[in-house]
Amino acid sequence: MPVGTVASVKGLPQDILEELGVRILLGNTYHLYLRPGVETVRNLGGLHGFMAWPRAILTDSGGFQVFSLNDLSKVTDEGVTFRSHLDGSSHFFSPESAMEAQIGLGADIIMAFDECTEYPADRDRTKASMELTLRWAERSKKYFEEHKGEVPWEYPVASTQYPDSDRTGNWQLGTGYSPTQSLFGIVQGGMDLALRKESAERTVEIGFPGYAIGGLSVGEPRERTREVVEATLEHIPADKPRYLMGVGTPEEIVEYASLGVDMMDCVLPTRAARHGLLFTSEGKVSIKQARYAQDAGPLDPNCGCRVCQRYSRAYLRHLYASNEVLAQVLNTLHNLSFYLDTMRRVRHSIQLGEESRFLSGVWSRPRP
Ligand SMILES: [Zn+2]
Repeated sequence: MPVGTVASVKGLPQDILEELGVRILLGNTYHLYLRPGVETVRNLGGLHGFMAWPRAILTDSGGFQVFSLNDLSKVTDEGVTFRSHLDGSSHFFSPESAMEAQIGLGADIIMAFDECTEYPADRDRTKASMELTLRWAERSKKYFEEHKGEVPWEYPVASTQYPDSDRTGNWQLGTGYSPTQSLFGIVQGGMDLALRKESAERTVEIGFPGYAIGGLSVGEPRERTREVVEATLEHIPADKPRYLMGVGTPEEIVEYASLGVDMMDCVLPTRAARHGLLFTSEGKVSIKQARYAQDAGPLDPNCGCRVCQRYSRAYLRHLYASNEVLAQVLNTLHNLSFYLDTMRRVRHSIQLGEESRFLSGVWSRPRP
């Protein structure tokens, strides 16, 4: 899932996202709640209507940003008091108000309100945080069950308004839509494998149509991430969507998919693009480097995206060096295209049942 923090994947219009084959994107509840505000989005048809995006959307619970963007946030059993990073105004999120916000935003998949345990944290702290997330998961589900009819949707109107242009053909808008949203639970438990198991089992007991693994990519070593993911996945039903939040590099997403992760989101392809860092089949390219100033070749000779088909490395380097807006647009377009191609190849290889061959062969690791 590309990240569209404030109802926009920075640099790319929605028709390009459709052309790239994006089938679901992520919006951040915290940011949208502060600006433009949930009621505004609700009155404009929810996120789908507001941003003119006919395909699927997932919103996070707001918890992660509340904790990561606020040094002064105050957590009690009831919820979290935090200050807006925009104007310093004081706000309060509880499981109930986070659900209310996400129902108003109207994404297809919404997330239970959780506390993302900081890293490092000792066992007592991790356990207390996990218990809080479990209590909040129950309250999130209860509120959702009582209010799930309040979505701002007007399907299937959108299907005629925004015809599907996905050439993969396996996503038909206006068919198979649920009358409401899907609320996913989030497994916490820090880096403690026993607590991860307990958190997973008790979250599954509460019962959700999908499960996320939260609290990773918070500064821990990558080997630790993998270990925790692998240990946690064992305790989440394989017949439900399993969503790993906030990862990763192209190599990492292939690896996590091979472990059984179905969904991932990451700001890396879009954020790195804006800093001139591009992912290619031949490894990472820092397009700002002077070595590309005279390079007439395509950014990635193996990429079919419109940037690689049309422009030279020299031109992309020039745009970046000149601080042109187009540099951000083209860089983002290529990086997202590369990520989506990577996942397409993963899906294809899973369909062919040749995952092991894929992992050892077709995907070539970037050169050091
Ligand atoms: Zn490309």
